[in-house]
Amino acid sequence: MDKQGFTTSIVHGDRVAGTEHGGVRQPIHTSVQYGFERVEDLIGVFQGTKKGGFNYARQGTPTTAALERKITQLEEGAGSICFSTGMGAITATFLTLLRAGDHLVSSKYVFGNTNSLFGTLKTLGVDVTVVDACDVEQVKSAIRPNTRMVFVETIANPGTQIPDLQGIGEVCRERGLAYVVDNTITSPALFKPKAVGASLVINSLTKTIAGHGAALGGAVTDTGLFDWSAYPNIADDYRKSPAKDQGLLQIRKKGLRDMGASLSSEQAHSIAMGTETLALRVKQSSANALALAQFLEGHDAIGRVFYPGLKSHPQYEIAQALFKGASWLLSFELLNAERMIEVVNALKLPIKATGLADTRTLIIPVAPTIFFEAGPETRRAMGISDGMLRLSAGIEDIDDLIADFEQALKLAV
Ligand SMILES: *Cc1c(COP(=O)(O)O)cnc(C)c1O
Repeated sequence: MDKQGFTTSIVHGDRVAGTEHGGVRQPIHTSVQYGFERVEDLIGVFQGTKKGGFNYARQGTPTTAALERKITQLEEGAGSICFSTGMGAITATFLTLLRAGDHLVSSKYVFGNTNSLFGTLKTLGVDVTVVDACDVEQVKSAIRPNTRMVFVETIANPGTQIPDLQGIGEVCRERGLAYVVDNTITSPALFKPKAVGASLVINSLTKTIAGHGAALGGAVTDTGLFDWSAYPNIADDYRKSPAKDQGLLQIRKKGLRDMGASLSSEQAHSIAMGTETLALRVKQSSANALALAQFLEGHDAIGRVFYPGLKSHPQYEIAQALFKGASWLLSFELLNAERMIEVVNALKLPIKATGLADTRTLIIPVAPTIFFEAGPETRRAMGISDGMLRLSAGIEDIDDLIADFEQALKLAV
């Protein structure tokens, strides 16, 4: 059969891969233990010679394996491993592929908890340099002989900065560095980091991929582009496997089996349901975000609007060239920050909540919440003003959202 489209292949994925009783979805396998008639098979699962076998749910179940196949399919990768959260996936990737004495270069515009994790890496002897990755020259000049990895996010939250994804990919290829791209905000529905040479792709499944705000999960996908045989930190045990498998094998054994941030079958099932509507949802939520961004940009009560789908955005051209849409994430500044509380309370549809990529629109003032701990100086350095609001557009009807903002913003003009 010809290569199928994104949604076609996902909604038929379980059935085609094979399920019991003709079920069209992979069931929720709750077993922790997996028993065998012949002890040779149990031994084979332990030694990796019996393919597709399971022995203990911390290392995966048929339900999590089915989700891993789907994520691999969505990212057009070579393989994926699922975790209980996005942070679980990121932590496992860093801790299994970096060692004391290594150096990591990262975009300075990353998810707050990832930034906090860099602090932990430093205490373990891994040096981290953060740069403005919108400028590939800054990435280049931060690279040292002991640099192993470059980390970026496709669209940063809340400022919506987009790194020079293509340029950094070329630098990593030339220097043999692992290029790790967090694709959470865009998701494979809008962008596949493999296209810019990513080695590994991270997705917080909690966000765009599940989309319903009712399950936590994370994944790391190997794009198949990186030469693991040349990567110094692969343990001898895993060198025996084909080079293409070594990276994920080490992440699965050390990062999933030993560290234990395993995804449950129940959550994997719930996330898998989300994958079926991923493209449909992202199309609607991105269209809503664009319409809201355009409306807000023309409004007297609003200062800057940060949205990569607007011509005023510094990386508008990159978003146009690489992404199928500019995503559901947008931030904007209320000129009169003193009216913030009143305005946000006057909104009837957006839910005043943290979190991202729900079917419902969510809104949060940035300075007093997610960037409160950072303090006023860091906020100033990051361009986060007191009147900044972050919005995660849902899939509601756009007229309802615009009408709601119209009435609430009257309080701020
Ligand atoms: C939320 C988020 C994460 C962490 O995901 P969790 O599933 O909440 O652990 C990582 N990266 C980005 C860009 C995120 O938005």
